[in-house]
Amino acid sequence: MGRVYVAGSINMDVVATADRHPKVGETVAGRQVLYFPGGKGANQAVAASRLGARTTLIGRLGKDSFGGELKAFLGEQGIDLGYVQETAEAHTGTAIITVAEADNTIVVIPGANGLVGADDVEVVPLLAGDVAVSQFEIPLPAIAAFFRRARGAGATTLLNPAPAQAMSRELLALVDILVLNETELGFLAGSGLSESDEAARIIAVARQLQAREDQTICVTLGKRGVLALAGREEIAVPGRVVKALDTTGAGDCFVGALAAQLADDVPLRAALAFANAAASISVQRMGAGPSMPTAAEVAAVLP
Ligand code: ADP
Repeated sequence: MGRVYVAGSINMDVVATADRHPKVGETVAGRQVLYFPGGKGANQAVAASRLGARTTLIGRLGKDSFGGELKAFLGEQGIDLGYVQETAEAHTGTAIITVAEADNTIVVIPGANGLVGADDVEVVPLLAGDVAVSQFEIPLPAIAAFFRRARGAGATTLLNPAPAQAMSRELLALVDILVLNETELGFLAGSGLSESDEAARIIAVARQLQAREDQTICVTLGKRGVLALAGREEIAVPGRVVKALDTTGAGDCFVGALAAQLADDVPLRAALAFANAAASISVQRMGAGPSMPTAAEVAAVLP
């Protein structure tokens, strides 16, 4: 069984709830303040580790109280933090979220995440059979260095290009498995896609983006499940019908679960079905990190 290495962001999400959003220049009294461990890198590592994969997180925290709290939380999840550095040059990544009137506003300050560089990822002892995972909340040159090293070692590279931003063809060619939603696919391929687009059109756009003949592109479609183009093969996994409570972190759960399965040598089709089931459990619970299921919970809903 291989290891999952996640190079990515670690944030504290500070959530303020209020009856309404303040107007510019206004102050309103809130109801509650809540603190949630977050950041796509950390969320995906939590998902993989909860599902039983040996998981290492690579990233940066500030030398501040949020950094200490996040380290304690991630350690409790069984994640190896030997490659998480504390830096005095920036504070821990923080997202300030205001929830009111069933809508939210979010300001994310990357802080220490913005300082992750090639030096952080080039020391990681990746081996054949391991899975190297990243997302777009750390600098892209660090991701490229991480994937070059992973491919050199015979590991599989998995990129979740979220939040969407332009990427070079060179970085895309370093990716074995790309996992993204239809909006991100539309953005990267330069052709608008919406939630209602048909499978044939989504696959056609994925084919347009495919940078190598053997590249796999997995498009997550919310409650519609997932479509994948694996080389020339098309795979569709229908969504599970559940009562969604909070879809925050569904994509991260999917990515972490898929990485855990691939590190365990599970074939792609079965790994996608497992990840789809895991993510469908996470949407029935509140929050991102705390909503990630265990392997036994996923096994219980799979046929
Ligand atoms: P993102 O949050 O990145 O846009 P998606 O909304 O596509 O990601 O969700 C990722 C995965 O989570 C889906 O492919 C599916 O497996 C699962 N999922 C999301 N929303 C639902 C839902 N309402 N019902 C069942 N499964 C869901």
